[in-house]
Amino acid sequence: MSSEPRAETDTAVGEQCTACGAALSEQVLALQTYPESDEQTLDGLTNGGLTHCPECAAEPVALLDTWADHDQPPVNPDQPLGAGYREVSDCCSFCGNDCDRPVVGVELYRRPGGGLPAYANYTLCGDCQDVFEEFLANIRE
Ligand SMILES: [Zn+2]
Ligand SMILES: [Zn+2]
Repeated sequence: MSSEPRAETDTAVGEQCTACGAALSEQVLALQTYPESDEQTLDGLTNGGLTHCPECAAEPVALLDTWADHDQPPVNPDQPLGAGYREVSDCCSFCGNDCDRPVVGVELYRRPGGGLPAYANYTLCGDCQDVFEEFLANIRE
């Protein structure tokens, strides 16, 4: 009965910055996304997730700081994780509008020290998914 909490923050992410490729001595920002529908993808994200070094994290942190986080979504093995995000929040963390298209859940891990919490969940509506995708694509250039 060892109930050590699993250190997913340390195992779920790579060792390199997904934007610039710099080796990470300290992981500062990691994002995973969970689309409600399998057909959705976010081009800016590698394998559904990213890890950013302090330099590359600056812009996303400034953006996410303006989003409204919400409770952790329920996990139901019979449905995509993104569907849990819709159960917890039916309005967008970015623009605050109702989500009428399938949502994308965004899960954030962050080492303490900045404006963001160490762990947070967000939900993006269809319009804001496009905006976020564009934003991420620009960072990678
Ligand atoms: Zn970087
Ligand atoms: Zn929105």
